[in-house]
Amino acid sequence: MKGTNEMEIRFDSRSENEGFARVAVASFMTQLNPTVEEVADVKTAVSEAVTNAVIHGYEGRRTGKICIRCKIRENVFTVEVSDSGKGIRNVDEAMQPMFTTKPEQERSGMGFAFMEAFMDRVEVESEPGRGTCVKMERTVGKGREIWTTQSL
Ligand code: ATP
Ligand code: MG
Repeated sequence: MKGTNEMEIRFDSRSENEGFARVAVASFMTQLNPTVEEVADVKTAVSEAVTNAVIHGYEGRRTGKICIRCKIRENVFTVEVSDSGKGIRNVDEAMQPMFTTKPEQERSGMGFAFMEAFMDRVEVESEPGRGTCVKMERTVGKGREIWTTQSL
């Protein structure tokens, strides 16, 4: 595929939309001819980021908006999940495995650790009172021989 291909969706901060977001991203990603495992990994990472926007960013305020932007460039898939919620004071601390600000809700503090495990790159930009953007990247088809008509 030459050039880039992008899509953007925006939806309310409701937990009912988590499944929709996951499936929308997965279906856009299928044009990269990913493996089942690659799709599952990206879906897990997107779920974690969207759940965080709903429960931490907006703290259950269901009218907040969540935006997902996806980009395909060659075999690199990029997905950004952003909210305009409360933001994160200390991003490095928040990304530590087992760090959570909601232990009372039985959160394990593993969301960012999963995103980092399932994606090649995770970058978080956040400003208290303004919101958070989680940008993740995954190269699809790594280690798999991809045959195209040009390579024959
Ligand atoms: P788990 O994901 O295991 O249920 P968790 O959500 O607390 O627990 P992480 O997803 O790793 O763990 O997030 C760590 C912390 O970062 C959260 O407890 C929260 O304080 C903060 N955080 C993460 N995402 C956001 C966000 N979108 N807006 C505000 N704070 C966030
Ligand atoms: Mg989380």
